[in-house]
Amino acid sequence: MSDTISLLILVLAVAGIALGIRSLQRKRKLVQEHLAEPMPDAWHNILSKKVVFFNDLNDDDKAVFEERVQLFLTTKNIEGVEVEIDDTVRVLVAASAIIPTFAFPGYNYPDVGTVLVYPNSFDETFQTKRYKGHREFISGMVGNRSMNGIVILSKPDLINDFNGLPNENNVGIHEFVHLLDKEDGLIDGIPQILIEQPFVGPWIHEIKKEMDKIQKGHSDINPYALKNNAEFLAVVSEYFFENPKKFRKNHLELYQFLCTIFKQDSDFKHSIVLVKTTV
Ligand SMILES: [Zn+2]
Repeated sequence: MSDTISLLILVLAVAGIALGIRSLQRKRKLVQEHLAEPMPDAWHNILSKKVVFFNDLNDDDKAVFEERVQLFLTTKNIEGVEVEIDDTVRVLVAASAIIPTFAFPGYNYPDVGTVLVYPNSFDETFQTKRYKGHREFISGMVGNRSMNGIVILSKPDLINDFNGLPNENNVGIHEFVHLLDKEDGLIDGIPQILIEQPFVGPWIHEIKKEMDKIQKGHSDINPYALKNNAEFLAVVSEYFFENPKKFRKNHLELYQFLCTIFKQDSDFKHSIVLVKTTV
């Protein structure tokens, strides 16, 4: 390699690093400026009307939740793909992300850059129209390979699932639980950032026990959980966060496992029990 080319590469590398630092500084400044402002009333109203988890929080925790939502919306790119998205969609995407990580106040999904919002559910080739032969429709997914760092959610499914009433389904929570699971490199139902090693064996045993009940028709958990351990975790997390009272009544042991995994109080008052800057 000639000296000129080496010098050019060096100059470009230094310029790249400088640009990277400047963009990071800009982003940090933007976050600080944004968080200096209280949450707009319109956003607060969306959370109050549509997000049961938020409504059950005490006032102090509501303030923390709102800050987390603002931080997420300031640092992540949320785009509609051939569909208009408004503040309701943006706030609900952020709420989906914050709910499963609420016990970890410093966590802001470092591996997620973009959330794509689709006009409808889609198939495995990302088509939203129903073509012959494509029967499997998906309301959300976490990207792999070239789609790494990208989450896709169907707009109508996201909105329907946040209807302000406790229910057992929530596509947003489902996908963000997969993202937490994916942090250790494997979406396998055992997120290492949430589950300590000695707890892995008992957790797998609990999954098998509940899967057996679902198979025998002795459980009200969505049978989609039977697909594999990762889907089991995502499906039961939807139910756990959407309707903790019913979940506790019907699945006390599994409920206690999920309280340990997501660091929630066992009475589900949502207070932060683990104050860490990162998970
Ligand atoms: Zn899934």
